[in-house]
Amino acid sequence: MIKVEEKLFQNRYRVDAGRPHIEIRNADICQHSCTSKPCTVCCPAACYTREGDGRVTLITDGCLECGTCRIICNEHGNVDWHYPRGGYGVLFKFG
Ligand code: SF4
Ligand code: SF4
Repeated sequence: MIKVEEKLFQNRYRVDAGRPHIEIRNADICQHSCTSKPCTVCCPAACYTREGDGRVTLITDGCLECGTCRIICNEHGNVDWHYPRGGYGVLFKFG
C-alpha cells in the first residue's frame, strides 16, 4: 500500500524565496506559553519543528495550504497565515 509520504512526494512546490506565506507572530509564546505545541504534530507536511530548548521553527517549503496550523493555534492566535503569492506554493498532482 502506498504511504502518505510517497503521495506527498508527488506534489511540486515553488518556493517564494525570502517571503514565507506563514509566519509565527511571537516566538516567545511558542517557547514559553504553548506547552503542547500542537502545530508540531498536526502539520501534514511537517513544516513546524519542536526544538530541544522548546523553540518552534517553521519552514513553509512543502506547505499544502491546508490551514490546519491556523486553526490548531486558535488558543494563542500566533500564526500569521496567508496564501502564497500567485505562481508560488504547492502544485498538486491529481490522479
Ligand atoms: S500552536 Fe501556535 S503558539 Fe503553539 S507552538 Fe504552534 S505556532 Fe506556537
Ligand atoms: S497550512 Fe497545513 S501544510 Fe501548511 S504549514 Fe499549516 S498545517 Fe502545515
